Amino acid sequence: MQGWKCERCGFTHIAEAIEKIPSRCPSCRSTRVKSIIIRPEGEDRYELSIREIYGILDRITELPVPEQEDARKTLRESGGVHVLCLDERKGRLSEVLTRNELEGYLSLIRTQNFGLAVIGHSVVAISPDSPIRPHVGLNRSKLDELEGLSEP
Ligand SMILES: [Zn+2]
Repeated sequence: MQGWKCERCGFTHIAEAIEKIPSRCPSCRSTRVKSIIIRPEGEDRYELSIREIYGILDRITELPVPEQEDARKTLRESGGVHVLCLDERKGRLSEVLTRNELEGYLSLIRTQNFGLAVIGHSVVAISPDSPIRPHVGLNRSKLDELEGLSEP
């Protein structure tokens, strides 16, 4: 099967037939929308294990900055875990997220069953098919914070 995916927020669309790829992601408006091949059902989409994901999140605030960026990318691409705020002790969500990012994540949480959690010191949004999604829910106080920020 084919479809497309936003490389920025992870919004994914599976095409029933051949379809034109939109120029902008409907969720976050990014132009980084790429066609993808959907793997057969049952095949794991993410390579990281639950233990590896928690291991990276436990260490991430201690890493040098360039390695933090690599770790964020690995978590996102191989674990379905998006780091919204690396270290919540150092700043609130309003200081680290742009308005587009904020609304993109809220949309993923509302419409695509993403989770929202604080793991270690990081605030993370978790894709519905991430290995850790069954273990985390929706952190109410962080969701309230996101929703409060998205109000005009
Ligand atoms: Zn997007």
